[in-house]
Amino acid sequence: MTRIFPDFAYSDGPRAGCWWDDTCDLPDYPVMDSDIDCDVAIVGAGFTGLNAALRLAEAGVDVIVVDAETVGWGASGRNGGFCCLGGGKISDAQLDRRFGKDERLAYRAAEKAAVFHVQNLIDRLQLDVDKHSNGETELAHNPRVFRDLVDTAAAIEENYGVTPDFTSKDKLRDAGLNGPFHGARTTPIGFGLNPRKYIVGLARAVVKAGGRIFSNSPVLSISGTTILTKLGRATAKNVIVATNGYSSETVPNWLSGRYMPAQSSVLVTRPLSQAEQSEQGWSSAQMAFDSRNLLHYFRLMPDGRFLFGMRGGLRSSPRSEAQSRRKTHHDFKQMFPAWAQIDVTHSWSGMVCVARNLLPYVGPIPEQPGVYTALCYHGNGVAMGSFSGACLADLVLHQNERALPKAMRQPLATFPFGKARRLLMPPVYAGYAVSDL
Ligand SMILES: Cc1cc2nc3c(=O)[nH]c(=O)nc-3n(C[C@H](O)[C@H](O)[C@H](O)COP(=O)(O)OP(=O)(O)OC[C@H]3O[C@@H](n4cnc5c(N)ncnc54)[C@H](O)[C@@H]3O)c2cc1C
Repeated sequence: MTRIFPDFAYSDGPRAGCWWDDTCDLPDYPVMDSDIDCDVAIVGAGFTGLNAALRLAEAGVDVIVVDAETVGWGASGRNGGFCCLGGGKISDAQLDRRFGKDERLAYRAAEKAAVFHVQNLIDRLQLDVDKHSNGETELAHNPRVFRDLVDTAAAIEENYGVTPDFTSKDKLRDAGLNGPFHGARTTPIGFGLNPRKYIVGLARAVVKAGGRIFSNSPVLSISGTTILTKLGRATAKNVIVATNGYSSETVPNWLSGRYMPAQSSVLVTRPLSQAEQSEQGWSSAQMAFDSRNLLHYFRLMPDGRFLFGMRGGLRSSPRSEAQSRRKTHHDFKQMFPAWAQIDVTHSWSGMVCVARNLLPYVGPIPEQPGVYTALCYHGNGVAMGSFSGACLADLVLHQNERALPKAMRQPLATFPFGKARRLLMPPVYAGYAVSDL
């Protein structure tokens, strides 16, 4: 497997210290150590792969899921747990220009459907995932942005069919949202969850429905619709590649140059007492993010711990990981100064994934009949990855096919510079940092 970050990024190093690992046990799944015949072989046991597997297994399809590590080892078991709108990093104006208004609305409807997809799964499987928050709150990092948030309320109504709620700067403390913010807009779609409890629930449901899961079995190559691991091969009628930010240039070769992994970094504090929450003026159960391009995301979880995340470093090594954890702590203390002395008990990082056209892709791998993929959720894959996995299953089944919006059916374009494409990121981040001033 050829991957574009140093090996450290794909090791347990960035993952060490992940809070979710302390919150529930992971079932054991065997290594794939023999040859298998099946209908569908799925590479990657994150939200995408397991949602595809669940739908297929429940439809009576003989499906296997093979992960290089363990269930949820990738981003799905170490994210911020925001089950929210999003999936692309694209504006309404860009969508209108590229696809027209109807397709823009279809894409926004898919974002909303993605959140309800997860909600329905949680209800149907009766998963206890520590849910909280009534939608998501965006906090303006300057007065101009707050005016923009107010001015674009009609777009929220048009795109998602809901009316956002506004909190002016002087009311933020009363709302338990105090910080260096200039007002808030709450869109009542989405909720926070414990991603590990969600993915463990998914994995158990897949097995209950007859699917088989294998761990510690890196897929080394895909030939036709056969996947090869070190100890066995699976011959399938269809293959789904669900590897997102942990993808490689060779599994399959078509992905080479077409996805951009980027790091995100998270910390979690010890539980905060009511008095400590009051001191900072943050007691809201809302999941929130600030309005920067290089945004910070944060939420007070039901057990009183505070989760705070932001973009990670551009490099990956033990040293740069330590730097990025320090930077995350630094920004946390700046934003929430009353908590500067509070113990940060956990911190970690992982890979999100970006596409050149700033949209997720769900569909066939061109020129490789029977092989499908879904990836590039731009840091918002709890809902969109889950939904995309289920949509992939529909594509494979050729039944109940959802009308995927055109915006999500555009095969991934290659980035300039091939395997050296990470060179593009420093100027992009620098541009964002300037626009965030
Ligand atoms: C720190 C962080 C915070 C985030 N916060 C949020 C958030 O709050 N809300 C939100 O919506 N999104 C968030 N995201 C993004 C979200 O977690 C991802 O978009 C989503 O989990 C992607 O799911 P996936 O199943 O496609 O990929 P992943 O969960 O990354 O799974 C890919 C899997 O593929 C496996 N794999 C790779 N190559 C091979 C191979 N050759 N053979 C076998 N297996 C292979 C990997 O081991 C991995 O387990 C965050 C991501 C990170 C890293």
